Amino acid sequence: MTAALKAFDLREAASPEEAAQLHAAALDARYKDDAALDILDAAINREFKGEIALVSSFGAESAVLLHLAAQVAPDVPVLFIDTGKHFAQTPIYRRQLAKSLGLTNVQDIKPSAEELSAEDPNGDLWKRDTDACCTLRKVRPLDGALKNYAAWITGRKQFHGGARVTLPTFEFKGDHFKVNPIVRWDRDDIETYFARHDLPKHPLVEQGFASIGCWPCTHPVASGEDTRSGRWRGQSKTECGIHTMR
Ligand code: SF4
Repeated sequence: MTAALKAFDLREAASPEEAAQLHAAALDARYKDDAALDILDAAINREFKGEIALVSSFGAESAVLLHLAAQVAPDVPVLFIDTGKHFAQTPIYRRQLAKSLGLTNVQDIKPSAEELSAEDPNGDLWKRDTDACCTLRKVRPLDGALKNYAAWITGRKQFHGGARVTLPTFEFKGDHFKVNPIVRWDRDDIETYFARHDLPKHPLVEQGFASIGCWPCTHPVASGEDTRSGRWRGQSKTECGIHTMR
């Protein structure tokens, strides 16, 4: 159990899990109406100091949260899951954006070479079983990386739809707290922030990619389609599992 979890008042809860849920609800009530910068400051510098990381795909909208975090703590650990299936443009954008924002602790999280060899030797598991591929290339690597932390920061937003429409600002899921500082931002808020701070966009955005993941599973979206509708197009799958399997 991490220091953050130990800090709870366990007296009113039936279990550590319930205590964590109560603590997340209390944090949500306290901070949910604050500005994103203040939420990040509270999470990084007070509530989970030294025990929190930001997870970023360096995708279509990622620059906003990364820019906000860089103002609060440029040395906050930023975890980028390098699945081995990214578009060629993504790692280049990841390096350029991290450098321009002054982020000093971006870490590339990779799947296990042994597990890749055993479970996806030809690199085509995504053709047969996207859930298994995401588990191998995203969920397990992130699980390993997050063992060092009590909490992580995500860039999820309610307007992305699906299971995200009811997301709170603070939550507890699996065995981690999750902080969603821009969860209530809408598309206009994102665009306005990009323009105000002259943030560079992922090069695939201008080609119609509204949400950017691995190349085999990401397609452009038409005007009016949901932001994430180009992910796993044609499948019922809407999430890779890093948020739903924990
Ligand atoms: S998004 Fe596609 S290629 Fe990437 S890990 Fe998931 S199934 Fe595999």
